[in-house]
Amino acid sequence: MSEQQHVPVLLDEVRTLLQPERGGTFVDCTVGLGGHARMLLEGGATRLIGIDRDTDALAVASAELGRFSDRATLVHADYREIDAVLDANGVGEVSGVLADLGVSSMQLDAEGRGFSFRRDEPLDMRMDRTRGETAADLIDRVDEHELADVIYQFGEERHSRRVARAIVRARAETPIDTTGRLAAIVRRAVPHHGYQRIDPATRTFQALRIWVNRELDGLDAFLERAARRLLAGARLAVITFHSLEDRIVKHTFRAIAKADEQLGIVTRRPLSAADAEVERNPRARSAKLRAIERFA
Ligand code: SAH
Repeated sequence: MSEQQHVPVLLDEVRTLLQPERGGTFVDCTVGLGGHARMLLEGGATRLIGIDRDTDALAVASAELGRFSDRATLVHADYREIDAVLDANGVGEVSGVLADLGVSSMQLDAEGRGFSFRRDEPLDMRMDRTRGETAADLIDRVDEHELADVIYQFGEERHSRRVARAIVRARAETPIDTTGRLAAIVRRAVPHHGYQRIDPATRTFQALRIWVNRELDGLDAFLERAARRLLAGARLAVITFHSLEDRIVKHTFRAIAKADEQLGIVTRRPLSAADAEVERNPRARSAKLRAIERFA
C-alpha cells in the first residue's frame, strides 16, 4: 500500500534535537502517518499531541501509534490553531514541538486526492477535505492576474502569465476539473526546448497546491505561537521542503530570537539529509531542518 511508503525524513536529526528521552509532552503539528511521532513516543515522550488537517492521515497515524494510545492524542486541526488545540487538551508549556511541513507521500500518491498529474482524476488538492475550496473551484473563479501571481510566486514559474492566460481561455470552454486536463493545458502553454528534466506542469501544480492549502499564510504567526509554548530547554524543530517555506522559517526564527532573549537559534545552518538518506528516500533531498530553543 502506498501509505506505507512515507519514510520520515531526518529522523535521527529530529531525535537529537528534540531529546524525547527527557520525557514530557511533545507536539507533532504534522503527525502525518506517525513516523516522527512514533520515534518521539518510543524515545521517551511521556505524552504526544499529534495534529493533522488530513483525516486520512490521522487514521493511518492512529493505527501506527496504536500501542501508545494511552499516551498519544490525535487531533484533526490546522496547526495554526495550535493554541486552541493545546488549551482544549489541558496542555500549557511543552517539552518539544515538531512541524514537518508540506504534503506526505500518501497524499501525493493516494488515488483521488488530485495532487498529482501522474494520474487523471478530480482536481481537488485539499489536504483537509472537510473544508475549503478545491483547486477546481478556485481555478474556476480566480482572475487571470491573481492566477499568474500565484503561479509565479508559489511555483517560481517564469511563464506564469502564459500559463494563466491558457487556463483562463480553456475554462471559458469547459470547467477545468481534472488533473489531466490541467496538466495538458499547462504543458501546451509552457514553451519548451528539447529535453526536459521535469514535467513542465510540476511548478504550476506545486503553486496551486500551496495556494489551495494556504500553506505559507500565517506560517510565521504559527511559529511564534509554538515558540511561546516551549518550556525552558525545549525546542521547536521545523522541516521544510522548498525555499519559499525555508525562507519564512529562517526569517521568523531570527525575528523571534531577536525579540526574546530567552529564545535562540540552535541550527546556525539548516541541517539536511546525508547522502545515504537521500539514496534511500529521494524526498529527503530538499529537506531542511531548523530549530529554536528556549534557554533554561
Ligand atoms: N512527519 C510525518 C509526515 C508529515 S507529512 C510522518 O513522519 O509520518 C506532512 C503532513 O502535514 C501531512 O499529513 C499534511 O496533511 C499535514 N499538514 C500540512 N499542513 C498542515 C496544517 N496547516 N495543519 C495541520 N496539518 C498539516
